[in-house]
Amino acid sequence: MTAAMAENMRPVEQACYWLAGRRREADPPLVGRREADIAIIGAGLTGLWTAIFLKRLDPKQEIVVLEQGTAAYGASGRNAGMLGEGIDHSHELALVHFGRREAERLAGLGVENVRDLLRFLEERRIDCDLERTGQLHVALLPSQVGELRGSAEIARRLGLDHFRFLDAEETRAELNCARYQAALLNPNSCILDPVKLVEGLKREAGRAGAVFHERTRVTAIEKTGGGVRVRTAHLPGAVEAPAARMEATGVAAGRLQAAAARLKAAAARAQGAVAPGAAGELVARRLILATNAYTHQIFPRLLSRFIPLYDYILVSEPLTAEQMSRIGWRRRQGVTDTRTFFKYYRLTADNRILWGTSEAAYYPGNRVDAACDHSERHYAELRDSFRRHFPALGDLEFPYAWGGPICSTTRFTPFFGSAEGGRILYGLGYTGHGLGNTHLAGQILAHMALLRPSPLLDLALVRKKPFPYPPEPLRGLAVRAVTRALRRVDAGGRPGLLLRCLDAMGIGLSS
Ligand SMILES: Cc1cc2nc3c(=O)[nH]c(=O)nc-3n(C[C@H](O)[C@H](O)[C@H](O)COP(=O)(O)OP(=O)(O)OC[C@H]3O[C@@H](n4cnc5c(N)ncnc54)[C@H](O)[C@@H]3O)c2cc1C
Repeated sequence: MTAAMAENMRPVEQACYWLAGRRREADPPLVGRREADIAIIGAGLTGLWTAIFLKRLDPKQEIVVLEQGTAAYGASGRNAGMLGEGIDHSHELALVHFGRREAERLAGLGVENVRDLLRFLEERRIDCDLERTGQLHVALLPSQVGELRGSAEIARRLGLDHFRFLDAEETRAELNCARYQAALLNPNSCILDPVKLVEGLKREAGRAGAVFHERTRVTAIEKTGGGVRVRTAHLPGAVEAPAARMEATGVAAGRLQAAAARLKAAAARAQGAVAPGAAGELVARRLILATNAYTHQIFPRLLSRFIPLYDYILVSEPLTAEQMSRIGWRRRQGVTDTRTFFKYYRLTADNRILWGTSEAAYYPGNRVDAACDHSERHYAELRDSFRRHFPALGDLEFPYAWGGPICSTTRFTPFFGSAEGGRILYGLGYTGHGLGNTHLAGQILAHMALLRPSPLLDLALVRKKPFPYPPEPLRGLAVRAVTRALRRVDAGGRPGLLLRCLDAMGIGLSS
């Protein structure tokens, strides 16, 4: 293993640029029994927005949020911080998935949603290094230029006329990359620091009266007469996979571990600290699962509707003024390209380049745990693609590299629902677009939990479930086959039979 590889295998709290160096005291874990009106599992953006909207709708509700790590441990603290208006993956796909009228509605709603979200941040003075830079969607091949013009036309037909087409010269004047053939600029998109956003929202939810228990993993959910009971365990250290921990524990090893845990617990009690594994129990009228890509670990029955995948990102050292002048980027727009497996990139507030890939990894068995947080294969490919885009910065180092779990659905939009007679509610599956969509999901879940009417509840994506994924072992095989086929299309090939069939079923990405 090279020094760079070892460096890239650090725990995510050090490897992720947004999380590194931000040491915050965790809120106390849940120990013993407590009650609440509504329990939320997960202190990512879904859980936080839901808590905020629940308190706004009914300040008297007692809301308790349980988080296995600290807030922002999941995707919400590890993302690229590129906030866009898109609710579906694209306006084209919104038409395919939901039809003309609903696509128009989603297009308008996406604009409104970002406007409302930004107003909230401004009113509450949440400082998350927000920059209203706009976003460039760039074509890398001459054949993709027509696609961009087509996208602008579709957006216009859906009622959005703020997109601006830039030719090759205009695009390169914004960011000097010889590969750019054209771009579509959405001036409304923004970039921000996602961990600062999470921290700001957590503060707001706390101010409104929501209570947080961090380092508290929910280990079981049980139905009671009038609601649900969740059982928890205190996780003082790194968050590991529950399944992996169970597998590693044979009977003899289990006894040894139990003895060690008892000793640790006694030592912790002597010091007045909460013992690792200390149990808690929360009884609530309703439970909201805000666990996105982790949901199957506590509620396996939803697994047919989503697939957990890992996205990976690099962040460079800060660029000098001279390096900045080589590439331009004065208006600091976020950038994505038109390929299915696109790259996304942006500047941070201190002028580092964040460089990410949407070619997400699937880990067999729907694995989501710290062992998936790094992928040297993805990092090597990211470094290579960066150099191909910006050879003038070929010697730039990337001291931060990490991955995070996203939750994908076959239609690339989230889904919502309830179980156990309305006791359990869920909203998940943002497919890598959760920064804006969680603000909508929080409103949807809050209205569902309090049985309040809202026009959002009759959105097709709330009423209808996405087409299911196959179970393992077919799931892994299907992901590999589709990935190979999409790579061929990205390299300039035509969609083969598999992709054409998926498109015909309304679950393809190449339409
Ligand atoms: C690398 C990467 C880049 C991305 N870039 C962008 C981007 O630029 N723009 C964009 O819009 N979106 C982006 N996304 C997607 C976006 O980050 C997510 O859609 C969004 O954060 C989802 O929020 P969430 O709260 O639903 O999930 P999460 O943030 O994953 O929160 C779920 C929480 O539940 C907790 N949890 C899970 N199980 C338990 C349990 N048993 N007990 C207690 N707690 C539990 C987890 O610890 C976690 O904190 C990106 C994602 C990744 C990974």
